[in-house]
Amino acid sequence: MISSVLPTYNRAPLSFVSGAGSWLTEADGRRFLDLGAGIAVNALGHAHPKLVEALTTQANALWHTSNLYQIPQQQALADKLVANTFADTVFFTNSGTESCELAVKMARKYFYDKGQPERIEIITFDGSFHGRSSAGIAAAGSEKMTKGFGPLLPGFVHLGFGDHDALNAAINDKTCAVLVEPVQGEGGIRAVPDQCLKGLRDLCDEHGILMILDEVQCGVGRTGKLFAHEWAGVTPDIMMVAKGIGGGFPLGAVLATEDAASGMTAGTHGSTYGGNPLGCAVGCAVMDIVSDPDFLAEVNRKASLLRQKLEGLVAGHPDVFEAVRGSGLMLGLKCKVAPGDVVNAGYAHEVITVPAADNVVRLLPPLTISDEEIAEAVSRLDAAAGSLSAS
Ligand SMILES: *Cc1c(COP(=O)(O)O)cnc(C)c1O
Repeated sequence: MISSVLPTYNRAPLSFVSGAGSWLTEADGRRFLDLGAGIAVNALGHAHPKLVEALTTQANALWHTSNLYQIPQQQALADKLVANTFADTVFFTNSGTESCELAVKMARKYFYDKGQPERIEIITFDGSFHGRSSAGIAAAGSEKMTKGFGPLLPGFVHLGFGDHDALNAAINDKTCAVLVEPVQGEGGIRAVPDQCLKGLRDLCDEHGILMILDEVQCGVGRTGKLFAHEWAGVTPDIMMVAKGIGGGFPLGAVLATEDAASGMTAGTHGSTYGGNPLGCAVGCAVMDIVSDPDFLAEVNRKASLLRQKLEGLVAGHPDVFEAVRGSGLMLGLKCKVAPGDVVNAGYAHEVITVPAADNVVRLLPPLTISDEEIAEAVSRLDAAAGSLSAS
C-alpha cells in the first residue's frame, strides 16, 4: 500500500525534533553534527536568534497580504539585494525551481520584445540541476529527472560540462541565453573555473545573449563571497537564488539587470506567496548577517581550515576517498566507495553529510560553524571512514 506521504524520497530512518546552531537532535535524543544544513538552506544554522526574532516579530504582526499591495519587508529585501549585487531589480519566489521558471520566461521575453522572437534556446550543461518543475527538468535534461514526463518544455540545448568547442558551435541565431551553476551542487560539487566563467561572459557579450547563473545552492555566502560569480569578477544578466536566502524559510528570488528584466512588465508574471512578509522579514535578517564583509572573511577562514583537515582525512583513507573539491564551505569528497555508504557511516557516527552525483559526498555546513565543530566533524568523518575501510 502506498505511504500517506507520496514516496518520491528514499528517506534515512532519522527524525529530527530540534536544532541549535550546527546541531540537530534526533527523536531518540542523539545529537548530530549537521554538515548538510538542509542542503545548503540553513546557512546560519538552526534557530539562529536573529532569524527567530525576525520571524516571530513578523508572525505577531502580519503573515500575508498579497502582491496586490505594497509589502514593506519585500521592498526592504529587494533594496538590500540590489545594493549588494549586480542587480537592478528582484522578483521573489518560494523556491529554486520557481526562480528557474521566471529566469527562462524573462530571457525569452527579452528577445521577444526586442523583435527576435526566434531566440528561444537556452544552453545548459550536463550534471546541472535547476529544480523539478517542467522548466527545471527540461533545463537540466538528465534522463533520471525527465524520463516519463514528456513532452518536455522545448528550447534547451544540453552540452558537456567544460566542452568549450561544443559551446562555441552551439550558439546560433536561435540562442537566447546560457544557464549555468558557478558551482554545481547536485552534480557533485563541480566548480566552473573562474577563467571559464569569464570566457562565458565574453562569449555571451560577443553574441548578444544573456548569461543566467543558478546560484540557488552556491549563493548567499556559501563560497565565501556573497555570490559565487564574484570570484570570477564577472556579473550575470539574470541570477536565480533560493535555499540559503531564507535561512530555512521557503524563499527564492530572481535578480536581474534593468535591461534583462525589461520584458517583465505589469501582468507578465506573478506569485501568490512570493515575497510574503514572513519570508522577506527572515530574508532581510539573513542578508544583514551574510553581506557583512567580516562575516564573509570568517567563512573563508573556516573554509580553509575545513579544507585542510579534509585533505588530511582523504590522505588517511585512500581506499575510501579520492580528493576534496569545491569552494568555500561548499565542499565535496570524491569517493572510491559508494557515497551513500559514506553518508550512512556518517549517520552511525552522528555526523550528517549529503550525497551527490559523480560519486561525491557533499559538505555544506552552516556558515556559522565553529572551529571546534569543524575539528569534531572531521574526527567523526574519520571514524566513519575507518569503519568503512575496516569492513
Ligand atoms: C536546490 C536547487 C534548485 C531547486 O530548488 P528548489 O527550492 O528545490 O526548487 C535549483 N538549482 C540548484 C542549483 C539547486 O541546488
